[in-house]
Amino acid sequence: MEDNSNKPKGLFKSSLGSFSRNFIDKYKFFKLKKIIRYSYNNSPFYHRLFNDNNLKPSDIKSFSDITKIPYTNSEDLQNNPNSFFSVSENKFVNVLTTAGSTGKPKKAYFTKEDTDKIAQSIAQGGRLLYGINQNDVIRFTFEVGYGTEIWGTRYYFDKAYGEIIGALMLSTGRLSVEEELAIIKEYNPNIFGDVTSRVSYLTSEMKKICDLHSLGIEKIFIGAEPTPNALRKSIENAWNADAVIGYGINEVGPLIAGECEKKCGMHFNEISYFLEVVDPDTGELLEDGEVGEFIYTTLDRMGMPLIRYNSHDLGRIITKNCLCGLPLKRIEIKGRTDDLVPIGAGDNLFTRIFDDILFSIPEVVDYQVKFDRKNGMDQISIIAESQKINKTIQGEIIAKILKISKIDNGINVSKTIAKPIVKLVEPNSLERDSIKMKRVIDNRGLYG
Ligand SMILES: [Zn+2]
Repeated sequence: MEDNSNKPKGLFKSSLGSFSRNFIDKYKFFKLKKIIRYSYNNSPFYHRLFNDNNLKPSDIKSFSDITKIPYTNSEDLQNNPNSFFSVSENKFVNVLTTAGSTGKPKKAYFTKEDTDKIAQSIAQGGRLLYGINQNDVIRFTFEVGYGTEIWGTRYYFDKAYGEIIGALMLSTGRLSVEEELAIIKEYNPNIFGDVTSRVSYLTSEMKKICDLHSLGIEKIFIGAEPTPNALRKSIENAWNADAVIGYGINEVGPLIAGECEKKCGMHFNEISYFLEVVDPDTGELLEDGEVGEFIYTTLDRMGMPLIRYNSHDLGRIITKNCLCGLPLKRIEIKGRTDDLVPIGAGDNLFTRIFDDILFSIPEVVDYQVKFDRKNGMDQISIIAESQKINKTIQGEIIAKILKISKIDNGINVSKTIAKPIVKLVEPNSLERDSIKMKRVIDNRGLYG
């Protein structure tokens, strides 16, 4: 599909491919020890944390010793981000904020050196994974705003792909469907990107007024929220383009993993971030392949380093080497530990299961699921935006929900769940804020 013949992909791949696993692990551990020592000496938060736990940086002698250090939690970043500052405050040039569940945003501050390093690593990833070069014209519409839940990626993409690689970046905030189409027609970008729900929305709206195959988009960047394969496929088919998923967490790094062209797991940036997968209950380190909670340590950040930050993301490291040849390990995200909702007789559901069900139906564009309590039973109601409204689609959704054993048992065995209600509505009927829609609403007040 894409002519990669003049792109420097092979060069970068072979230079990184020559590093052995052993070398990468040694290099990572060297950087890990260095950032732990640096944080102890410069970050008031970590100096106190180490002292309170009778720890010294020299106590970290092996990878597994890292579990001696307690987690850093999002509340620590919400309550007192300044206590993490490891340089004087006037050295910061960028701050990314993410809305937290308690309302106070989590904040991450970056120095010029930090932003340069992040941009360099994103540029390196762009060349390696996607062959981004100076001939590319790129239209991203990622929002950058205060306290939004979105990753602050646009700033870094502009630096990485624009200033460093030399691609033409067409960056604005989000525009109307008509304005978006006008920009694409005028500048002919070959790469397009935003969070998955926004790309999905634009795809379904633009399809109505234009033949998307004629626009010349070759690659679409999506991510920042669960992206079921069915949804990816429908976006790819609509544009006749490859859609690849990227992943970032504002407070850790705006882009820390991305899919290669094989699209089977995201290569993790092991050079800039240290990842542990731990058992959420016991805190024990898990083997590659096992699903657990992701704990991150930033290896390059000097302004505000984070050691053992608990992201509450659940996932696993994929054990097999990727067919693309890159030695960087791949990760798979399964959900978040705080995305579990209790349902019926003491069971817990990953809310992501509704993504898999609803987005496996091609007509469904978006949806909202609500949990209510009625007559002592949990009532699940789903409103799905669908391009066609008929009993077949409605029945298909109900049938798929009833196949979830926890729900089926709750209805038929423990009688703690009522039969789900499914309603189909026209696309764009559901209320959205400017960024993305809240897909799960729990009205049960289970926690007071
Ligand atoms: Zn790969």
